Amino acid sequence: MATIRFQALTDALSRNPKKVEYPANKASLYYSTNVFTQEVMREYLPNEAYKSLIKTIEEGASLDRQLASQVASAMKDWALTKNVTHYTHWFQPLTGSTAEKHDAFFSPISGGRAIEKFDGDNLVQQEPDASSFPNGGIRNTFEARGYTAWDPTSPAFIISGTLCIPTIFIAYTGEALDFKMPLLKALHAIDKAATEVCQYFEKDVTKINATLGWEQEYFLIDKALFYARPDIMMTGRALVGHSPAKGQQLDDHYFGSIPDRISAFMKEYEIEALKLGIPVTTRHNEVAPNQFECAPMFEETNLANDHNLLLMDLLEKVARKHDYRILLHEKPFPSLNGSGKHNNWSLSTNTGINLLAPGKNPKTNLRFLTFFVNTIKAIHDNADILRASIASAGNDHRLGANEAPPAIVSVFIGSQLTQMLDNLEKSIKAGKMTPEDKTELKLSIGKIPQILLDNTDRNRTSPFAFTGNKFEFRAVGSSANCGSAMIALNVIVAKQLMIFKKSVDARIDKGEKKDEAILKELQKLIKESKKIRFEGNGYGEEWVQEAKKRGLSNLKDTPRALAVMKDKKTIDLFNELGVLSPIEMEARHEIELENYILKLQIEARIFGDLSLNHILPSAIKYQNTLMENIKGMIDIYGKEAKKMAATQYQILEEISTHINELKNNCDLMLVERKKANKTEHAEEKAFAYCDKVKPFFQKIKYHSDKLELLIDDEFWPLPKLREILFTK
Ligand code: ADP
Ligand code: MG
Repeated sequence: MATIRFQALTDALSRNPKKVEYPANKASLYYSTNVFTQEVMREYLPNEAYKSLIKTIEEGASLDRQLASQVASAMKDWALTKNVTHYTHWFQPLTGSTAEKHDAFFSPISGGRAIEKFDGDNLVQQEPDASSFPNGGIRNTFEARGYTAWDPTSPAFIISGTLCIPTIFIAYTGEALDFKMPLLKALHAIDKAATEVCQYFEKDVTKINATLGWEQEYFLIDKALFYARPDIMMTGRALVGHSPAKGQQLDDHYFGSIPDRISAFMKEYEIEALKLGIPVTTRHNEVAPNQFECAPMFEETNLANDHNLLLMDLLEKVARKHDYRILLHEKPFPSLNGSGKHNNWSLSTNTGINLLAPGKNPKTNLRFLTFFVNTIKAIHDNADILRASIASAGNDHRLGANEAPPAIVSVFIGSQLTQMLDNLEKSIKAGKMTPEDKTELKLSIGKIPQILLDNTDRNRTSPFAFTGNKFEFRAVGSSANCGSAMIALNVIVAKQLMIFKKSVDARIDKGEKKDEAILKELQKLIKESKKIRFEGNGYGEEWVQEAKKRGLSNLKDTPRALAVMKDKKTIDLFNELGVLSPIEMEARHEIELENYILKLQIEARIFGDLSLNHILPSAIKYQNTLMENIKGMIDIYGKEAKKMAATQYQILEEISTHINELKNNCDLMLVERKKANKTEHAEEKAFAYCDKVKPFFQKIKYHSDKLELLIDDEFWPLPKLREILFTK
């Protein structure tokens, strides 16, 4: 009998909300208390050292040894006041999560005594035993060692008694083995390119930060139910399970009231997040049952991304305390919405201007249009690069599944801005502009702020939408490191801004006035990038057809989406901007493929285990019960039993059919897996898994779900989806 399932249900239903106390009456009193903030630096560092450190942080100047040891000593002194015992370099290997290796401050000295030790060397560099992190052959070919190095632009913080130092992770030969290092380089590239363009409008701007505001979606399920489902436990998603009668169709979960147990969990992670300086402000129920979202105020991209990774870790830890398990997978439940992580993105100057916010007059609006149109053109020219940046086995289930943006990249800007761009395209005449032309244009450009105020239409089906004063990249997966998407986006926009600057300068050199040169160039970009703009329903089949006509790519799975990383154009672009060398690009392509293969390999194995060790035995047991019954019917009714027990006969037969099909498909899948595993070449292997192994997943699920519907509920060994999703 299905005792594990019923025990799990009993356990889940018996839980009460945990009590969570606020550490102080106002959040502002505990905000950032676990962060080595500038204020703490000022308190713990000598004045000169403090100033040099700030200079290092702001200008990216290099850090000398003496300063490093002063900072280390300040960090240690501060950390010891907070009962910290260990320190770690905290980094972002290409597995997608974060990694840490803890070392104690405690250090024995002679005479049986000990001191607390943490010096500049410990702060600046560490050599984790890195051989088992993904490296795409980099460290095999060159040298087998890697090291982590402090990123002073992201502040150190304390988690569970450990001082965490954000670091980059690189091979001894210099290649990046993480997301942080190329992200910092991409942010440097966009800073430089955007500042140069911004100087056309604002002479005093000397630095531009790309900003990121992410919105993290996730599911919570009770831990007992989690452990009773080998598939969810091992792969993060339900591989089998008949859809519950009630899913999300009533829309009764979205923004609904939050149950007490969940509420306690949210309260606790928010307190911890705020202490870590993560400015979380928003929480709500999402569309699917047991699905939720958390969003902070936006921040500078590198910091925002560190904060997202920290928050994912925190959600996981706090969920455990409340006897939940968190699912960050992009598609944990087949019949329900998956989870994404919208990346809101903009550019912000050191003088406090948001470059994607329309201003108050024609001048500031021309500035807005410049960055707005260049971004659209960047997406147009590099849609495949953007698509590759969000490709993963998990996200393949989500993109294009009529609940998330399609795999086709397009840009939504709203009807008013569309009209504005259409007007500009038409009204800028070839040849020299007359003063009247210019006045008319300026008037029309001046209208943007009013336009945007009423521009409330929001298209939820677009992967890349303009939402008033920022673009929202909605196709990022919930478990992803935003770094990947942010590297791609900032690189392509940086490149486009460089091209734009060159063309405008060339026009000015030929004697055109600056404004005219900018307008003419924008007109050209508007024309050239028109086909990437789409205002309609991104979920509809018509869009797929329309996109095909327009010649837009529709790369539905990871191996196909990643192929752009092999293109010369991509390799040259990342190389030219100093973000990834050709070797690093090749390694990353391989690592992404490898991640994909491993995920599918694990899922395939779990399909086998579930089918053979859980589902088939339960189906057979129920068959035995039916057969017992039929035997009894024959004893009583003799020949008449065939008629009297017609239903039992029929169910018996149906069960047999599905049992055989289930087993048959598992066997066939095994043959394909063996073939795929023999393939040496990563890309070929990924395609084999994608095209030959994965199609069996659907078939196995189908027969398993049929059996779930046929078998006595008491015999079914796995918690059903309705039980997992509606137990709070
Ligand atoms: P939703 O998408 O849920 O409707 P909003 O459109 O209000 O919500 O966007 C919320 C997110 O956008 C927040 O995380 C916020 O910090 C972020 N955001 C707002 N302005 C910017 C900006 N200039 N740059 C980056 N992110 C921003
Ligand atoms: Mg959003």
